[in-house]
Amino acid sequence: MVATSTPTSSTAFTRILPTDPRLANGKWLRIPGPTVLHPAVIETANRPMVPHRSPEAAGLVDRLSHNLKLVHATEQHVFWWTGTGSAGWEASIVNLTSPGDRIVVTVSGDFGDRYAKTAARLGLDVHRIDVEWGTAVTPEMLDEAFREHGPFRAAFITHSETSTGLANPLKELAAVARSHGALVVVDAVSSAAAMPVNVDAWDLDWVLSGSQKAWMCPPGLMISAVSERAMAAAEESTFPRFIWDVRTVAEATANHTSAQTPALSLQYALDAAVNAMLEEGLEAMYARHARLGGHMRDGLIANGLRVLADPAYPSQAVTAFHLPDGFENAQVFHDRLRDEYGIEIAIGQGHLAQSVLRVGHMGYVDQPELDATIEAIADLAKKPQG
Ligand code: PLP
Repeated sequence: MVATSTPTSSTAFTRILPTDPRLANGKWLRIPGPTVLHPAVIETANRPMVPHRSPEAAGLVDRLSHNLKLVHATEQHVFWWTGTGSAGWEASIVNLTSPGDRIVVTVSGDFGDRYAKTAARLGLDVHRIDVEWGTAVTPEMLDEAFREHGPFRAAFITHSETSTGLANPLKELAAVARSHGALVVVDAVSSAAAMPVNVDAWDLDWVLSGSQKAWMCPPGLMISAVSERAMAAAEESTFPRFIWDVRTVAEATANHTSAQTPALSLQYALDAAVNAMLEEGLEAMYARHARLGGHMRDGLIANGLRVLADPAYPSQAVTAFHLPDGFENAQVFHDRLRDEYGIEIAIGQGHLAQSVLRVGHMGYVDQPELDATIEAIADLAKKPQG
């Protein structure tokens, strides 16, 4: 990825042009979403509308459908809806299950917790596998849950847990769920396009994500890879559904169009972003994320900071670290990093809101901005009293 300048200290931020896409309101945007827009995405912002039933719009649907399948490593289906990542929670639930169905959910952080609560609110019988935040749900735990509490209609797995910077072992968890005959549903909101999510090879049924993460686009599109098995399950589901009915979207997509008026600008953006990804090469893109994730974690540790996630299961999209000693709470650290160094990171979530900080490194990102972030965090960590 292109970095137009190579800042090595906080003073170097002034050399970044105010129009640099990596800046938001003059600050470096290093939160785990919404992320920095790809320059090619920004260029799409002024593109005029076309009639959404026109050949141009049909071409866009076909191109997106084809290219999104490449990114998800699937020959089955990829659909998108106007909506955010959590719309994918609801869509996966109402298409794959029926009220009262028993499901199992991995809860290793705030997003797993919310997914489980969404399923319960919609009327599913939810078995939670809760682990300490920052640790992974292992295949052994999932297998035990199936043996002792199953059968389950589906396993709901959070891949990259954005609240803790941990990635659950998706491939292995999916294999366990499939061995028990369950559907495999994956929250890949912060992993899609940052870490491999091989839908066909890993036999996944529904993989949901949101445009504002590693897709390098504004928020507003929910993207879902959907298996043939999931399409069959959608026929069996007794949930009432309209907007989220995958059968309607599948039919529209097959007809090179959309069920409702599409979010055309966001589709232009995603089209440009996915083109940029394919140009970089998917292997190179994943390798860059792995390298940068390692660099972030190593850089923090080398400066005496403590990374939250079990080092055996790192997310390559986001790193969470413990609040440095001497600081009252994460909000204070966050505000000072923003105001004194011009870098916007995120505080923790849930019960870790004030004891943890999080740095995003997914999408349009390269090493210079991470070096600057590590340096600024390390410098501020030494000055709790100002
Ligand atoms: N799941 C994960 C892992 C997330 O990181 C997020 C948002 O950050 C969501 C779900 C919810 O997505 P949204 O806020 O786009 O609805």
